[in-house]
Amino acid sequence: MFGKGLLTGMRVTIGHVFGKKVTFCYPEEKLEMTERFRGGHLTMDYKKCIGCQLCAMACPNKALTLKATQDAMKKRHLTSYVHEMGRCLYCNLCVEACPTKTLAWDKNYAISSWHREDMNHQVLTDDDMKYLEKAMEDAKVAAAKKAEADAAKKAEEAAKAANDGGGAAN
Ligand code: SF4
Ligand code: SF4
Repeated sequence: MFGKGLLTGMRVTIGHVFGKKVTFCYPEEKLEMTERFRGGHLTMDYKKCIGCQLCAMACPNKALTLKATQDAMKKRHLTSYVHEMGRCLYCNLCVEACPTKTLAWDKNYAISSWHREDMNHQVLTDDDMKYLEKAMEDAKVAAAKKAEADAAKKAEEAAKAANDGGGAAN
């Protein structure tokens, strides 16, 4: 029939005009990623990190550079955690290797950049650094208290030993 193709085309077009929208206004609007989506920036709950570096060791592309320090109570804390997104395979091995399950993806897929150095993401935040500062101070106080208690205990033991020795001599 003459015009059949045109009518079919118009039917499809009109169906899309009045049908459900499948497009969205990127970048003003963003798609919500699924639970298992791997991408964007690495994030961490700093308080849960034990500075073991297993994540960096598990990374096949050496995309993670960590620096750690020890507090006065010999507990390790990270001072820097750089994720080189340009090298990352998004294989998730770092997240899986973490024994405290503190790593996650922020799922922000809009991470393109003009400069390579902008792809180096510092995972630790200012709040994490404040927490570190406080943890170091608290550890100093705890270590001083522990040293005091140990010294008192030693003195007590020495006095007891001296008393026991004196008693035995009598
Ligand atoms: S996702 Fe894979 S490549 Fe990327 S930092 Fe983690 S272990 Fe390394
Ligand atoms: S594996 Fe987990 S706990 Fe260990 S340093 Fe990495 S993020 Fe921290």
